[in-house]
Amino acid sequence: MGEIIAIANQKGGVGKTTTAVNLAASLALAEKNVLLIDFDPQSNATTSLGFGRKDIDFDIYHVLMGSKRLSEIIRETEMSHMHLAPSNIGLVGLEKEFYKKTSGRELLLRKSLQEVEEFYDYIIIDSPPALGPLTINVLSASHSVIIPIQCEFFALEGLAQLLNTIKLLRENINPNLEIKGFLPTMYSAQNNLSKQVLTDLSMHFGTKLFKNYGDKNQAYVIIPRSVKLAESPSFGKPILLYDIKSNGSVAYQNLAQSILRSR
Ligand code: ATP
Ligand code: MG
Repeated sequence: MGEIIAIANQKGGVGKTTTAVNLAASLALAEKNVLLIDFDPQSNATTSLGFGRKDIDFDIYHVLMGSKRLSEIIRETEMSHMHLAPSNIGLVGLEKEFYKKTSGRELLLRKSLQEVEEFYDYIIIDSPPALGPLTINVLSASHSVIIPIQCEFFALEGLAQLLNTIKLLRENINPNLEIKGFLPTMYSAQNNLSKQVLTDLSMHFGTKLFKNYGDKNQAYVIIPRSVKLAESPSFGKPILLYDIKSNGSVAYQNLAQSILRSR
């Protein structure tokens, strides 16, 4: 059975989508069969892979509403081992539906995944910047969660709330939900704040950083601030297909290696 990994942080713009897309692509490069699920109505992961809103007739919303099966909306991508379950703006409508439905609403995504789970080594789920019902569905469906932390001021603000939500989910819905790790993102060596965030992270969560097998000089995986990483979505490509040798691409491949070796 595949491993289901959520990428979550209710803070906006911390690198969730960039991580979801590029981790999924890096695992696919290592010939693992990967499904990337876009579970954010902003559909940034979907557009990052070159799909326009008009290209998507049916998306994850239709699956959760029961009008399509997950296998019917899955699309192939430019990477041979990587598939995408797209989202569209309609996913916001799901929140409304949730309020009508009394029981089992947290488990809609988990139930939908059962159909395809056995075909993938990894299922990576991108989530929206909120701790609402959509993110609760993602965390209820996942074996583990990666929390991207932007190396900027206020980086750790809101983290206690996220950790508390994870704790409540473990107690009530998903007892085995594991924190796979914290991933420092948008790190710039010239920036003292960046360094401070890293120090704070390694002090509080040192055992939950990703061991780096690709660079002897860096104990754990850090995603650098990289123009190439920011540009690649506008070409509809993961960084691997845009500039495989760039430092951002190498960092996401190191993250994938860390995950592959931790199994
Ligand atoms: P949201 O909360 O809105 O879903 P997010 O957490 O998914 O945001 P991203 O969309 O991945 O965050 O990143 C926010 C912005 O920062 C994007 O424009 C992205 O291209 C850029 N970005 C992400 N990671 C990096 C990086 N390592 N270096 C430079 N720019 C980056
Ligand atoms: Mg996003």
